[in-house]
Amino acid sequence: MQDLLSGVALRAGRYLDGLDTRPVAPPQQVLNCLSVLDEPLPERPADPESVIDLLDRIGSPATVATAGGRFFGFVHGGCLPAALAANWLAGAWDQNAVLYTTSPIASRLEEVAQRWLAQLLKLPEDCGAAFATGATMANFTALAAARNTALERLGWDVEADGLFGAPPLTVVVSEETHPSVHKALGLLGLGRRRVVRVPVDGQGRMRAEAFPRLEGPAIVCVQAGNVNTGSVDPVGRICELAHPSGSWVHVDGAFGLWAQASPTLAGLVAGVEQADSWATDAHKWLNVPYDSGLAFVRGAARLSRAMSLSAAYIPEGARRDPGQFTPELSRRARGVEIWAALRSLGRAGLAGMIDRTCAHARRFAEGLRSAGCEILNEVILNQVLVSFGDAEATLGVIERIQRDGTCWCGGTSWQGRVAMRISVASWATTEQDVERSLQAILRARDEILKTHHRADQP
Ligand SMILES: *Cc1c(COP(=O)(O)O)cnc(C)c1O
Repeated sequence: MQDLLSGVALRAGRYLDGLDTRPVAPPQQVLNCLSVLDEPLPERPADPESVIDLLDRIGSPATVATAGGRFFGFVHGGCLPAALAANWLAGAWDQNAVLYTTSPIASRLEEVAQRWLAQLLKLPEDCGAAFATGATMANFTALAAARNTALERLGWDVEADGLFGAPPLTVVVSEETHPSVHKALGLLGLGRRRVVRVPVDGQGRMRAEAFPRLEGPAIVCVQAGNVNTGSVDPVGRICELAHPSGSWVHVDGAFGLWAQASPTLAGLVAGVEQADSWATDAHKWLNVPYDSGLAFVRGAARLSRAMSLSAAYIPEGARRDPGQFTPELSRRARGVEIWAALRSLGRAGLAGMIDRTCAHARRFAEGLRSAGCEILNEVILNQVLVSFGDAEATLGVIERIQRDGTCWCGGTSWQGRVAMRISVASWATTEQDVERSLQAILRARDEILKTHHRADQP
């Protein structure tokens, strides 16, 4: 076992060291080699060493280099050294984080991590927390507690009686609510379509002056961190408008909620602490391994009532059974890596990582703007939207950047325009990574503009 694991450590180290010199997206000839894996089901056992050798030889090159410093697609974080190492150790532990009894260490690390997170994200001390797979399941988990509480206020026990015959529940979202929230609403029987959509401004923020008058307890979904612009809904103002009717305000803060942890950025998310529940991703800006999301609900009992197996309360002061707060029972001990990330960063390290990635985003915006590119958003956080002219030119530049392999940026559509999105969320990104990527982006832009120009000639 020792030899096998030491060998894996060597291979993994080699893999990570190699990220600097390989293309971010795997080239086609590497992907062609994946056909080696299409072998018949083995009839006989194989030596674990040979299994790992095959995995490394064929698998490692066919990865996307999201663990490196120049992947700027979606909002992917990297993986902090302490978090990766903790993940390996926890893999050896093979704990089932369902009960205190099955893993005292998993239970205790969730408790500690929850306490630290509540301080960093300025959430109420009496929060319940679920360590879930990602923000989609965190949204689902928090919105289950929201649904149950709002219906309880209307005199309906949805846990016992379901939604058939329940009083109708108004759900308010914005035009820019992330699709994962709509998915969660669908899973909860609240409907993806039967929502009230509040219009947004030019940055994608919910317009408070267009917020509907709410009659009874409703569920309001707001956002901290628009996936395109990074903008934040006026959560404090929305809470003032929603709370008098007994309504529940849920914040999807998949990445934006982490702004709370930075003294220089916390002003952007002022007011989010007035909400009733929050979802965020640890695998994005906290830079822990996949998969890792977090749901927080004001009043731990509301969360455990929605999630526990027996629909019973957790007795006060009892040991934490993690499975009382999550949709799953058996689950891996995600709290281990979150704890390790926070333990290694400390408050200052986390703030520094958030600030640094935002500074990289500003440098991208400045470098591109000064080279004549159009920046479509106010770069307040870590997201940059770029246009290289018309849709065809922008799509052409994106394609060329991805093929070049120096960095990776994806396309998106923003208020009717095709754009390229740069998202800086990895601890591993350095200033040199940003400069190298800027050069690659501008090289691609120049090449595309040249061919466009040639095509225009008679
Ligand atoms: C990424 C993201 C999600 C979904 O998160 P997953 O971890 O992929 O489930 C939801 N909302 C926002 C705003 C996001 O950026």
